[in-house]
Amino acid sequence: MAIMRNMLLYLSKNRTANRAAKRFGLRFGADRFVAGQTLEKAMEKVKELNDKGIKVTLDHLGEYVFSIEEAEAAASAVVRALAAIHESGADANVSVKLTQLGLDLSYDKCLYNMRGIVAAAKRHRNFVRIDMEDYVRNERTLAMYETLSSAYGPYVGVVLQAYLYKTEKDMIRMKKHAPNYRLVKGAYKEDSEVAFPKKEDVDLNFIKVIELQLRNGHFAAIATHDEQIINHVKQFVQTHNIPRSKFEFQMLYGIRPMLQQQLVKEGYGMRVYVPYGVDWYGYFMRRLAERPENVSFVVKSMLKR
Ligand SMILES: Cc1cc2nc3c(=O)[nH]c(=O)nc-3n(C[C@H](O)[C@H](O)[C@H](O)COP(=O)(O)OP(=O)(O)OC[C@H]3O[C@@H](n4cnc5c(N)ncnc54)[C@H](O)[C@@H]3O)c2cc1C
Repeated sequence: MAIMRNMLLYLSKNRTANRAAKRFGLRFGADRFVAGQTLEKAMEKVKELNDKGIKVTLDHLGEYVFSIEEAEAAASAVVRALAAIHESGADANVSVKLTQLGLDLSYDKCLYNMRGIVAAAKRHRNFVRIDMEDYVRNERTLAMYETLSSAYGPYVGVVLQAYLYKTEKDMIRMKKHAPNYRLVKGAYKEDSEVAFPKKEDVDLNFIKVIELQLRNGHFAAIATHDEQIINHVKQFVQTHNIPRSKFEFQMLYGIRPMLQQQLVKEGYGMRVYVPYGVDWYGYFMRRLAERPENVSFVVKSMLKR
């Protein structure tokens, strides 16, 4: 399983495959995890989820762009998504990846793009979540979050990954921003020098950082499909009288939809991450890596053709 996971994560960064995937359209079962190739299609899914009491965070797919023009186009796409959310009255915000907005090309240009996005979110009284990518971009992502948070306050939040040793320290360091965090286990392939190699240790640290944020009293988006963790959180908030307005659960589109519905029925805030767009390859490969059993439905979908 570990070999398969590593191979899938290695393939997730393959540029040739990524380019080919853009030409293929949503294939190989990718439509199980991706809402569609256009904003219009994604907005239909947003409505379906909202009708079930589920909030959304929309993700215009894409990462590691090659030119400033591509980064600017991506920023415009996110601003368009914020406008579509506003016009439709949907219960949704947006998530962004800084490498799609030019982080690897120019930090300043990426910051400029982000300012445009967060300013649009502020105008619409909405919110931008900065996804966390791999370790080499972690410090730059946190630095950009801190700059944006100082300028725009509650309209921007960031993701922290429990598999990194440094996460607890980062939480202490950034406390002054009253941060709204999405807490996740972490989806990239990282070295044991920077991240817990064993799943049990990641799970323990995940619980630790979730509890820390809930005790801090700042908003916690707890993003996981792990029922043990979810049950632990339910117990913890009850014991410590933490109001439901201070946290929500988050899951990915297409994963554990019954559990999503159940949490809504129990009265918890539930938000689903809805990715859309043509650049689905890297995202899809990371979803397969999380659960290599998913590879079997890829094979089945290929055999059907
Ligand atoms: C809303 C959201 C946003 C995220 N944002 C980021 C981010 O910005 N940066 C980042 O590094 N990671 C992000 N992640 C991914 C995260 O780091 C994990 O890789 C992912 O959530 C799987 O871990 P888990 O907590 O669900 O637990 P796991 O222990 O991996 O899984 C628990 C159970 O969930 C189910 N499950 C998990 N993954 C899958 C799958 N792919 N297909 C089918 N079933 C599955 C299985 O039943 C599994 O047994 C995000 C996840 C969510 C839900």
